[in-house]
Amino acid sequence: MKRITADEAQPILDDAVVRLGLSKQLHNWKIRLSKGGRGYCHTNTKLITIPAFAFDVTLLEAWLEKRGFAPSLAVRYLDYYVCHEAAHAIANTHTHSANFMRALLKICPPEIVQLELGYKPRNASAAGIKKD
Ligand SMILES: [Zn+2]
Repeated sequence: MKRITADEAQPILDDAVVRLGLSKQLHNWKIRLSKGGRGYCHTNTKLITIPAFAFDVTLLEAWLEKRGFAPSLAVRYLDYYVCHEAAHAIANTHTHSANFMRALLKICPPEIVQLELGYKPRNASAAGIKKD
């Protein structure tokens, strides 16, 4: 697999922020491809990073299927990931607390918020998030 470059990722990330209606909430924030294997929300420097695997639909299809999700969600995984990190920014927390989950539920399209169950199943279930 060819790994996505920062230059290739940037317009996709910028487009996702606009498409998800997060331009206002992420005003003054930067969103970049992560240099490592995972994403992060740096609340002190207002920087969100998204890992390369979130762009890899083929890899995600297999990953999702193994966890009991519809493989068709793979094309929306990047949107979910952007929403997850944006929820950290909006709730101003690094935790996956009830506050974080409230922010996530507010901004994440309902058909993809279930992907949170593949990451933080206990917190997501407690917030009422269910698999389709
Ligand atoms: Zn998180």
